[in-house]
Amino acid sequence: MIPEIEQKSKLEIKQYQELKLRDLMIYLSDKSKYYKKLFQQNDIDILKVRSLEDLTSLPVTTKDDLQTFNDDFFCVDPSKVVDYVTTSGTTGKPVFFGLTDKDLDRLAYNEAISFACSGISDDDTIQLMTTMDRRFMAGLAYFLGARKLGAGIIRVGAGIPELQWDSIHKFKPSYLIAVPSFLLKMIEYAEKNNIDQNASSVKGVICIGEPLRNQDFSPNVLSDKIKEKWDIALFSTYASTEMSTAFAECHFQEGGHHHPELLIVEILDDNNEPVEQGEEGELVVTTLGVEAMPLLRFKTGDVVKAHYKDCKCGRNTLRLGPVIGRKKHMIKYKGTTIYPPAMYNLLNDFSEIKSYIIEIDNNEIGTDKITIKLGTTEFSEDLLIRLKDHFRAKLRVSPIIEFVSIQEINQLKFPNMSRKPILFIDKREPVIS
Ligand SMILES: [Zn+2]
Repeated sequence: MIPEIEQKSKLEIKQYQELKLRDLMIYLSDKSKYYKKLFQQNDIDILKVRSLEDLTSLPVTTKDDLQTFNDDFFCVDPSKVVDYVTTSGTTGKPVFFGLTDKDLDRLAYNEAISFACSGISDDDTIQLMTTMDRRFMAGLAYFLGARKLGAGIIRVGAGIPELQWDSIHKFKPSYLIAVPSFLLKMIEYAEKNNIDQNASSVKGVICIGEPLRNQDFSPNVLSDKIKEKWDIALFSTYASTEMSTAFAECHFQEGGHHHPELLIVEILDDNNEPVEQGEEGELVVTTLGVEAMPLLRFKTGDVVKAHYKDCKCGRNTLRLGPVIGRKKHMIKYKGTTIYPPAMYNLLNDFSEIKSYIIEIDNNEIGTDKITIKLGTTEFSEDLLIRLKDHFRAKLRVSPIIEFVSIQEINQLKFPNMSRKPILFIDKREPVIS
């Protein structure tokens, strides 16, 4: 089930997107209080926006804009909204999104073709190991996508390995949707309770929230750790509430495929100019076909690299590599630029380390200071030396390493109301830009 447009030539895809863009410009100037005002203030003639290149003449939309003018982004009357979701804003205050009936259909289509891209069919049953409630879009998208595809779904929700395994034994799902590090907990539980994970019905996992691959698409440490004990296919998927669209890997696993019927993709540099093809930059998206809260040139804050070579699966759409990091989490360290995920990957290499948190602060001379707090019961001078050497060799940085109790880490890592564990704390003074 590959949508026709995704098999067309790059030129045809571009032309298709340009038609959609023109429709969007008319829709926004008609229905969106925010964009109407923005176009007026910037003297923008919407009829002159005809090609994808013309996008660069338009202002970008930031998370701050979304937070500050949240209500002005709504293009429909509240009575048309059938589902409300939230995502965390820049100040921690939630940003609200509404979805109309049509938006839920779009979401279902997006997830159905994304599942299909990763090889799931109507014969499959999927066990959903993420939350469906708490105004969370992803869980609902998975449910709707499975339904549209005709696949079965078991809504177990997050956590509780025992319940997950009971459900696997009872309903025999062929796929799971899970946070990859939770799969390690599933393996641990299986080993303690005489469950042979490799004899289970599960053949693949749609993995969310954490990267599985290095930039060259080779499996990262987390992926190796899982596959070493559980021989299943792991598929990455990348999505966000603002995009209402997913980038899913096909079985060639060389990045997440772009769905051109749902999203226009730009990769921009610090000056909001397109980077050279294949260079890393911030992912900026324009949503297509969204009714309640469409976004034009929305800066996702994620730094990625796009890949343009045709994929062997028959889709001619661009693919996004693993997220390199959050743009605002970029660390400048003695002439080197790094992002926290590279450090997570490195720390995952040490089995003695049970949990960790990375803290970034400014030091006296204005550069970034990296402190890694480690929770381990096996502290040794030798571990400290191996860690320091590893950081120097792989990332050319020498972080401050502190050993603390696992309990202390857990308090920092799981603050109230957080949907995901916190691995990174930024104490730097905000940079005025
Ligand atoms: Zn492919």
